[in-house]
Amino acid sequence: MTKKTWKTRTALVHEGSRRSQYGEMAEAIFMTQGFVYPTAEAAEARFIKAGEDEFIYARYGNPTTRMFEERIAALEGTEDAFATASGMAAVNGALTSMLRAGDHVVSSRALFGSCLYILEEVLTRYGVKVTFVDGADLDQWRGAVTPATKAVFFESMSNPTLELVDIRAVSRIAHDVGALVVVDNVFATPIFSKAVEQGADVVVYSTTKHVDGQGRALGGVICGTREFIRKVAEPYLKHTGAAMSPFTSWIMLNGMATLDLRCRAMADSALTIAEALVDDPRLSRVVYPGLQSHPQHDLAMAQMGSGGTLVAFDIKGGKEAAFKFCNALEIIKISNNLGDAKSIATHPATTTHQRLAQDQKDALGITPGLIRLSVGLEDAQDLVDDLKLALAAM
Ligand SMILES: *Cc1c(COP(=O)(O)O)cnc(C)c1O
Repeated sequence: MTKKTWKTRTALVHEGSRRSQYGEMAEAIFMTQGFVYPTAEAAEARFIKAGEDEFIYARYGNPTTRMFEERIAALEGTEDAFATASGMAAVNGALTSMLRAGDHVVSSRALFGSCLYILEEVLTRYGVKVTFVDGADLDQWRGAVTPATKAVFFESMSNPTLELVDIRAVSRIAHDVGALVVVDNVFATPIFSKAVEQGADVVVYSTTKHVDGQGRALGGVICGTREFIRKVAEPYLKHTGAAMSPFTSWIMLNGMATLDLRCRAMADSALTIAEALVDDPRLSRVVYPGLQSHPQHDLAMAQMGSGGTLVAFDIKGGKEAAFKFCNALEIIKISNNLGDAKSIATHPATTTHQRLAQDQKDALGITPGLIRLSVGLEDAQDLVDDLKLALAAM
């Protein structure tokens, strides 16, 4: 059986596996910074050109990390991948490695705070020009790209209000001017995403989220063509020290085995929860792209085939009511990770998005009553009961 014919769940369990002379069943953790060469000549030869399974230094590559990279590239449908120490190292690496002073980038405005920092503060410091657009408005993308545009960047589903960007349409606009499409796909998950099929050139993930799935380790990955990963991203990443630890790679490999099952179970529960909340009189809005009433429902289904694993809702009564609600939750934890087995409630206005100016919060729909719920693996009815009891306790 050739690897190419493997379907998702098979690839998630087996793809990229390497076994030592011991034939260990589970993926080994090669907890080593370096590798011993049999001779000085062999060392010289490897530095000239390292073969497929020849490693030099863990900052450049490591067998456990390589297993993870091959497994996630197979899932994403890209030729290659480079694993990084965090999601932010992946976002920074993908963009910084390919951009030069004088280049232009167009980005959606609705970004994770640290992504916004890279675009607004880091890239601009080195002479890259950045234009921000409303990601859902295709006319703004059309108006913003120019022949100098080297990349467009967006989160395919935004944090925290779950607004989708049409990957196919934005990719067409970007490719018309020769720009690369870089997508932060965390909220879409690698299971529901078909970003590359839909036109994206480079896909980045924080594997801290669904890939680990149990809130243990920080990690990230850049997926793309072999040319982009090895010729553009790798030289920058390996010399600036963004590598994923072999131990983290092992955690991520184990997360991959159950990733499909977990994301689907979480999305099923997210729909159940959204349906249970949508008519609740104590809420002024419930945002879940899997609901037929969501304005981007058709796009979500075409792009992801699912509404995803997060639900956002706005509690009437603002911050005070939202805090009472959070404090009354029993099963659902107050925290700021997502994609975890444990359900997590976040109050973006006072935590993840606290630093934004009020007009930015208003533009992004981050209201004082907004709660972002990352739906975990608990029983869906227990979660609905927990939410309803907390709403009653306000
Ligand atoms: C969490 C997150 C990141 C950053 O990932 P880290 O692993 O925390 O560095 C980037 N983008 C999005 C959309 C995220 O949710």
